Amino acid sequence: MFDKLLLIFDVSGFPPRWSCGLWSSLHGWTHIIADVLTALAYFAIPLTLAVFVSKRRDVPFSWLLWLFCAFIFSCGSVHLIEATIFWHPWYRLSAVAKVLTAGFSLMTVVALIKVLPEALKLPGMADVNRRLEVEVEERKRVNQTLALKNRELEDFAYIVSHDLQEPLRAISSFSGLLKGDLGENLPDVARDDLTHILNSTERMQQMVKDLLRLSRAGRDELKKELTPLQECVDDAIGQMELRIASSEARITTCGLPTMTVDRRLITQLFQNLISNAIKFTKDSQRPTIEITYDGNGVFGVKDSGIGIDPAYAKTIFNPFKRLHARDAYEGTGIGLSICRKAVERHGGRIWVESQPGSGSHFLFTLSPGSKDD
Ligand code: ADP
Repeated sequence: MFDKLLLIFDVSGFPPRWSCGLWSSLHGWTHIIADVLTALAYFAIPLTLAVFVSKRRDVPFSWLLWLFCAFIFSCGSVHLIEATIFWHPWYRLSAVAKVLTAGFSLMTVVALIKVLPEALKLPGMADVNRRLEVEVEERKRVNQTLALKNRELEDFAYIVSHDLQEPLRAISSFSGLLKGDLGENLPDVARDDLTHILNSTERMQQMVKDLLRLSRAGRDELKKELTPLQECVDDAIGQMELRIASSEARITTCGLPTMTVDRRLITQLFQNLISNAIKFTKDSQRPTIEITYDGNGVFGVKDSGIGIDPAYAKTIFNPFKRLHARDAYEGTGIGLSICRKAVERHGGRIWVESQPGSGSHFLFTLSPGSKDD
């Protein structure tokens, strides 16, 4: 079988083309050069096409392009063999190459005819662009509606939390008065019930206050000014002086830039992150907090605390999301939502990298437009 295959390279029985007929040098070389040049072009075209198809996987009917590659490549082979036949009379190989070329060309024609109706249905660039424009417009409209709804929701949260404060204050003070008025005359059960009411009211007041803080972080007009961020950190630390002293927390900062930001909001951001870093460190440990800037737009607040399960890395930024019981760590679950709001209002994003028991690394960016140096 293999011997028979080798027969296609057999040149016996044929003279080289130069010895066959009355070739002038000019005539022969014209054939040879034209065939070689055509062959080179026929090899280069499928090669370029192959690179294109393998890199652009989204090209429709890519299999057809591969068929084109085979067809053009076989045409090139025929031309190359034709050029070499002037010295090496492998007419049998030439015949095989021509049969292959005929096969590929027929297959290409059939494939083209089959594909034509589908290809005609493909949208043109103008059509695609028009559809894209419509989609962009639609998205703009949806975004505007969403922004409006968000605004309404924020207004609603603001009004509700603001207005809830008054009745809550009333419940709290009347419960206090009741406890004071009845004093020792109250049965133990009633006294316990009243204590529960007072505790719950206090907790609800704290939640409403925090909700109001969150709503303000999203509503209040930004007052952006050129601010050395180190000053925001210093202000945040200043507001937590007692807490930092009692926990003996060690806080280091490094290379914070000067940026155009809302000083109050960014101070609040650092304050929440530092406060959490202290709170979520075991009592037996001294909290260590590093505040960094990598020079490329990413800020970090890294602590040595209890860490966070990565499964909750996203949800902890949602309002009221807490991972611990209230008696283990106090809080309302609003601090990180305020951080996210503060960062987003400055065109940035916030995320956390952490493992339970290995501390937490909160990272955030602020819009480069806010940066000044
Ligand atoms: P709060 O501190 O009032 O609970 P936050 O919104 O600030 O609310 O935080 C949400 C939750 O994320 C916390 O209850 C805690 O489980 C987790 N968390 C936040 N910061 C840290 C931290 N530095 N280390 C470990 N857990 C944290």
